[in-house]
Amino acid sequence: MTTLQIKGEVIVPDRSTPPSQSVSRWSDKGIIAHPALVVVPESEEDIKAAINYAQSTGLQVLPAGGGHGSFVPIGSKTLYMNMKQFNQVSVNSTAHTITVAGGVLTGQVIKAVTEKGFYTTWTNSNAVGFIGGILGGGNPTLAGIHGMQIDQVLSVRLVTGEGKALEVSPSSMGDELALFNAICGAGHGFGVITSLTLKIFPISNLHLAEEGVWVRRLIFPPPALETAATVFEKLQPLSPESTAALVFARAPPTAPKPGAPMVILTVTYYGPATDAESAFPILFDKAVTSKTIVAVTAPTQLAKLNDALAHFDVKGDRKDIQSAALSKVVPETITTAFQKWLVFTEQYADAKRTTLVLSSYSKDKNMEISQSPEGKARYFDNRDRGFNVLIFSWSSTDSTEAASNEFSKEIKALYRSGSLTSELPRTLLNNIAPDTKADELFTENQAKELKRLVGVWDPTCLFWRPLI
Ligand SMILES: Cc1cc2nc3c(=O)[nH]c(=O)nc-3n(C[C@H](O)[C@H](O)[C@H](O)COP(=O)(O)OP(=O)(O)OC[C@H]3O[C@@H](n4cnc5c(N)ncnc54)[C@H](O)[C@@H]3O)c2cc1C
Repeated sequence: MTTLQIKGEVIVPDRSTPPSQSVSRWSDKGIIAHPALVVVPESEEDIKAAINYAQSTGLQVLPAGGGHGSFVPIGSKTLYMNMKQFNQVSVNSTAHTITVAGGVLTGQVIKAVTEKGFYTTWTNSNAVGFIGGILGGGNPTLAGIHGMQIDQVLSVRLVTGEGKALEVSPSSMGDELALFNAICGAGHGFGVITSLTLKIFPISNLHLAEEGVWVRRLIFPPPALETAATVFEKLQPLSPESTAALVFARAPPTAPKPGAPMVILTVTYYGPATDAESAFPILFDKAVTSKTIVAVTAPTQLAKLNDALAHFDVKGDRKDIQSAALSKVVPETITTAFQKWLVFTEQYADAKRTTLVLSSYSKDKNMEISQSPEGKARYFDNRDRGFNVLIFSWSSTDSTEAASNEFSKEIKALYRSGSLTSELPRTLLNNIAPDTKADELFTENQAKELKRLVGVWDPTCLFWRPLI
């Protein structure tokens, strides 16, 4: 009989308990069951031993970081490799780089770089695994200035399916270079990433006010929906320093009117506050602010920006994130989507926390990157889309989980039909759903090349991967 002996922990799940007792996941959706085994490696040697064990027992290896991948299935054939002991972050202030180990969470990276006066690109959740976010493209808060998270990656260290430790970077050759590029955008299932090095930037480059990043928030009641949608439209096109988000959410239990539907418009400006104020006079226009419940300017330190979204990081319940990348959005689509969201969250009492987010940013930097050899080599083709509609569903029962999935599909179709009719459906790999097709992410040639690379780097399909 094959045995697994490593320095780290090996846990055999107790099947009489719920799966959440053996794997701590952001969402307890129906695709989560007990794995065969949970392994917590402490070194590359441990990873190699676990890979050998999985090869000889027919298990599939799933390296896990923050556990936030809502699209990741876990079952009786899974060897769940919890990377939490790979938790080091090392900032090099001279070379302007950061090296992040395989199990580090986003919040840890933000703390480490900002403490030294730097920033890099990151997702908007402190609890998302930093590596996991990058493997699916990594749509960061600073996309308008820097492009995607994959565009900041300088090198990757990983253990392959053959148990070989390897460092790949843009200066690698042949299939090692091809592997580096695949990891940048189509990154799941090519190995266990033990660390990744990427670019960092001095915060002083942003010329922020002492109070931090400029944030302006307007909260509208439902009767002012059209005003909110029109303001969102008038903000476009955004400059590289700014992002805008129009959110449909219900007031939390602690609010004066718990459960009341709200339309929240947030504009963030990663630059001097005076520039922001002169760029967005519409956000101070009396004709607009008179229709709001709240209109505030709330500058926030860069390191603290994600804190406002911490309530989305709670683990458990049936949660999901799906999205559609779009070139264009018209106010009529926004108002129709609101009505659908209102009806859905009224009909399903356990889905009231379901939230719709329509975000936009300048696509100029991404378009510039798409013309460069690096941009062409990496696996991310949504660079011409400056809008993203995201359906964040949250319920607690099987039946509502199924209804939520239908609702997400409907909202994606609605926004896509209101966008350019000739436009191909595009999705971020980090937000894929059961109905997502490979051609929403990859061209025919990219899909062919990815299949070839799976043959080279994981011929026995030891690792779980989506779509390819
Ligand atoms: C609240 C919330 C906010 C989010 N915000 C954003 C956002 O702003 N931008 C964005 O782009 N995405 C965002 N996402 C999506 C998120 O980036 C993806 O779900 C990502 O896959 C989560 O990574 P994880 O490590 O937390 O999850 P996990 O489920 O642990 O891992 C996800 C995938 O990455 C692989 N993986 C993780 N670590 C490693 C490793 N060390 N080696 C090899 N493979 C590894 C896993 O095998 C799995 O396939 C958000 C998700 C949530 C829930």
